[in-house]
Amino acid sequence: MATTSMMTLSTGSKLVENAGHVQTQTLRRILQLNYGVEYLKKWFGERENLKHPNMDAYALESLFTSTVPLASHADLDPYIQRIADGDKAPLLTQQPITTLSLSSGTTDGRQKYVPFTVYSAQTTLQIFRLAAAYRSRVYPIREGGRILELIYSSKQFKTKGGLTTGTATTHYYASQEFKIKQEKTKSFTCSPEEVISSGDYKQSNYCHLLLGLFFSNQVEFITSTFAYSIVQAFSTFEEQWQELCNDIREGTLSPRINIPEMRKAVLEIISPNPSLASKIEGCCQELQNLDWCGLISTLWPNAKYVYSIMTGSMQHYLKKLRHYAGELPLVSADYGSTESWIGVNVDPYLPPEKVTFAVVPTFSYYEFIPLYRQKEDCNSAIDDFIEDKPVPLSHVKLGQQYEIVLTTFTGLYRYRLGDVVEVAGFHKGTPKLNFVCRRKLILTVNIDKNTEKDLQLVVERGSQLLSQARVELVDFTSHADIATNQIKGEVEEQVLSECCREMDASFVDHGYVVSRKTNSIGPLELCIVETGTFKKILDYFIGNGAAMSQFKTPRCTSNQVILRILNVCTIKRVYSTAYG
Ligand code: AMP
Repeated sequence: MATTSMMTLSTGSKLVENAGHVQTQTLRRILQLNYGVEYLKKWFGERENLKHPNMDAYALESLFTSTVPLASHADLDPYIQRIADGDKAPLLTQQPITTLSLSSGTTDGRQKYVPFTVYSAQTTLQIFRLAAAYRSRVYPIREGGRILELIYSSKQFKTKGGLTTGTATTHYYASQEFKIKQEKTKSFTCSPEEVISSGDYKQSNYCHLLLGLFFSNQVEFITSTFAYSIVQAFSTFEEQWQELCNDIREGTLSPRINIPEMRKAVLEIISPNPSLASKIEGCCQELQNLDWCGLISTLWPNAKYVYSIMTGSMQHYLKKLRHYAGELPLVSADYGSTESWIGVNVDPYLPPEKVTFAVVPTFSYYEFIPLYRQKEDCNSAIDDFIEDKPVPLSHVKLGQQYEIVLTTFTGLYRYRLGDVVEVAGFHKGTPKLNFVCRRKLILTVNIDKNTEKDLQLVVERGSQLLSQARVELVDFTSHADIATNQIKGEVEEQVLSECCREMDASFVDHGYVVSRKTNSIGPLELCIVETGTFKKILDYFIGNGAAMSQFKTPRCTSNQVILRILNVCTIKRVYSTAYG
């Protein structure tokens, strides 16, 4: 059994019991480390007492929150831009920043640079070890086993000022910490570095699957950052299994892999294994008749679970993931962002729908902006929530929704992350958060205000009708004009009409309902797109520097290229009759 169980939030640690106090100390450390940086000087001036080690941490906390304003990425962007251009002055941190991360940008369509420091990789290692410890209590795994890790680096490149940029996951996979994690958790990824970092996710995916099959008896669990990549990988498997079996039988590598370093690295590992190839082939022939239900549990007989982020916008892929996983449990992974890690799943036995994240109080200093839903008759607001003053972690209340604000060791100060969470309970003294949605309003046609969560619920209603007709909803997005879905299977016009009507009627926002009734918003238009359309969207994002490991299908878009892809690929349009 893996020996990571010493590292939990509860064993012998006062960290979570005194989470509020630890937060105050964490803020003190951040401010003392970065005393005098240009951004803080702008607000604090030259106050010497900030630097003083004896300054009361609580006094510092209240000075900080009353002096430094809440900030968005746009407020910090000029500083980050100067860093990217090579300005070596201490702008955000005292330690020079040599690496920048690109947040996926697929949640709001715009990629953002965020500082990445040694602290970023270290906390990633910490949370991964912490999470591994919690999992191993519930699902012990064999020491020295393998992980089928469906992970992909994007290309790293240099800014004008010579700083390395790439996604946070890319920096992490290239770091020492990634290697240390394997040693400390005594679980080793099936694929060598050349596969993870090839920069071509289709080729990487083929090799991940090939090596995963080659080591299938040793694989203890299957994982990726976001559930989307697992679904994507196995839907490709359905098309490539014969070729994969052939490579296992002969010890060869398909010509579709044309990156020399990757070819060399994979060929050094595999060798001909005709009996394994025949066994897999036999399984696949049977699985094909079952529409690949139980693919993972059948082909990886020793796997204990499937592990990935399955909450938030990933919830849509749960159904397909369960289908592939068979009887294997799905374990929902932790909560964080390119800007900072936030919380760990301390209850890995819970189904993904019920998962919460216990905030780790040493990673960053967190504040919480209380959010209240607008009253139904309030049509003038331009936002979906009314806000109250931010509160520290020690003041959050059960059942209340908040937007998260981060102050990090990497130079972000009172930075609004844009995520909405709900306090679902407490783990000792630290809150357990339920991820609700991205804060940004995503669908607004008229006076209506529909969040990502609202849209997801509406799509779920429509998808239930499709499932009854044995049609699978593969993916979806929307535009403040149309909603687009990709489905798999044949479906009658009548089912689609009913699905469209049901979705339209399921938008509960008062502004939407009123506008629909008065026809200020026209009928919902459901566009069915041809198979492969969402893969084209993925390719478009990847081509623009996004990484497969962090990709999230945008649930609402006004990106002209994407709208063009959707338009060209639309094979059927249906209009709602919900409001006559
Ligand atoms: P990125 O821009 O790639 O850094 O993605 C970070 C964002 O992904 C977060 O701000 C969340 O909106 C989302 N995210 C990360 N972890 C989770 C999780 N466990 N559950 C739901 N959403 C998540």
